[in-house]
Amino acid sequence: MSSSDAMAGTVNGGISFWYAQTGLPVPREPLAGDASADVVIVGGGYTGLWTAYYLKKAAPDLRIVVLEQKFCGYGASGRNGGWLYNGVAGRDRYARLHGREAAVRLQRAMNETVDEVVRVAGEEGVEADIHRGGVLEVACTPAQLSRLRAFHEHERAYGEDDRELYGARETAERIRVADAVGSTWTPHGARLNPVKLVTGLAAVVERLGVTVHELTPVTEIRPRQAVTPYGTVRAPHVLRCTEGFTANLRGQRRTWLPMNSSMIATAPLTAGQWAAIGWEGRETLGDMAHAYMYAQRTADDRIALGGRGVPYRFGSRTDNDGRTQAATIEALYEILVRFFPSLAGVRVDHAWSGVLGVPRDWCATVTLDRSTGLGWAGGYVGSGVATTNLAARTLRDLVLRDSGQAGSTELTSLPWVNHRVRKWEPEPLRWAGVQGMYATYRAADRREAASNKGESSRLARVADRVAGRH
Ligand SMILES: Cc1cc2nc3c(=O)[nH]c(=O)nc-3n(C[C@H](O)[C@H](O)[C@H](O)COP(=O)(O)OP(=O)(O)OC[C@H]3O[C@@H](n4cnc5c(N)ncnc54)[C@H](O)[C@@H]3O)c2cc1C
Repeated sequence: MSSSDAMAGTVNGGISFWYAQTGLPVPREPLAGDASADVVIVGGGYTGLWTAYYLKKAAPDLRIVVLEQKFCGYGASGRNGGWLYNGVAGRDRYARLHGREAAVRLQRAMNETVDEVVRVAGEEGVEADIHRGGVLEVACTPAQLSRLRAFHEHERAYGEDDRELYGARETAERIRVADAVGSTWTPHGARLNPVKLVTGLAAVVERLGVTVHELTPVTEIRPRQAVTPYGTVRAPHVLRCTEGFTANLRGQRRTWLPMNSSMIATAPLTAGQWAAIGWEGRETLGDMAHAYMYAQRTADDRIALGGRGVPYRFGSRTDNDGRTQAATIEALYEILVRFFPSLAGVRVDHAWSGVLGVPRDWCATVTLDRSTGLGWAGGYVGSGVATTNLAARTLRDLVLRDSGQAGSTELTSLPWVNHRVRKWEPEPLRWAGVQGMYATYRAADRREAASNKGESSRLARVADRVAGRH
């Protein structure tokens, strides 16, 4: 079977594969006119919903309103790869800005966050197909292997004593990736079904008494006001939890760049196909390429695999239903078959894309401006499934401190709190920069694969510098 046969029946878009089994949710009622609350949360993804959850748990009398433009889980929280893991964007920069000890505290908090999500999901009866298999990242070229070893040591130096380094044979005992020469594994990770988590969370917060309005786009956030076409909600605290869609809000066009990530999901694999691959531990799987991939073995035994397609659309445009270009689907399929040659010809059931938010310095942040009552959390780049939970607990502490209901906490002193960064460049510089960066990463990967040298391509370092990543 050729790759075009494999994609003949592929569903393209439909928000994401994760909705294919459950169907898209029936939306909740929109806002019905002007209203007031104690806290307004804009955005019904993990950040907004976790924040509502923790605030309501801490202060059950708070009147909390969530305003969501479409339906909860419409954004990245309903489209991601389901890696619940301890990575946080910007940690190394925070170490440079605030000292190593502060960054180690942030990392430790992230490690605990993986446990926290698993714990709360269990406690609240959110059945999200969570499997704690850890995270396995593989190297397939000499250059990737040296990066892998350096990465492994770097992570251990942040206190991950339980991280393990594997050679080719031990890697194959876990997952048989063609040409894998080594891997690093951390137990601080789990696989999950993103939609089951986000729709479960929305139901939990509603049960706790949070008001959730869907089909309610916020057009502007002002101090103590969230403005929508159906009315304005006034509250002492307004929290922006809009991640990759932030550019659509008035005055926020250059705040966080909406970066695309795309995925495919195969048909369920047969027992014979799994026997050739292994992957019994259901680790989440990634690699050390500059234009990296990420994958999971789903609860129903498919492979869901993602990577960067068309990274960015001119003018910070965001997509709507997740439709993905044919060239991107082909490129992801190529990675799938390069990793697992025995799967050549396997059917792709679904392809989709989503947007994530990228700040100019690639550092995730949680902020509450005490003079205006405006708060926000995001800029997670590609690591938000766990980070959103830590961000939400931190927003809770900031709001409770600001309203005099609590004091400072361990979380309010983490180095990512109240971090400010400049905006992205205007177009066309923004578009040209991001296109150039990803073209350079792909060229660097090709060069490394061809050269067989153990050194990272200088091209990738140039792209990192241009992008402001390091
Ligand atoms: C394809 C893909 C794969 C990914 N894989 C992983 C992974 O495996 N592991 C990982 O850690 N991270 C991953 N991520 C990132 C992760 O999914 C996100 O960081 C996380 O979901 C962000 O959650 P959020 O609530 O901040 O944003 P979102 O989930 O995007 O939620 C924002 C919400 O705000 C709503 N909204 C936006 N603007 C408005 C407005 N003006 N008015 C009202 N509502 C508004 C949107 O509709 C949306 O529902 C991936 C992202 C993508 C796109």
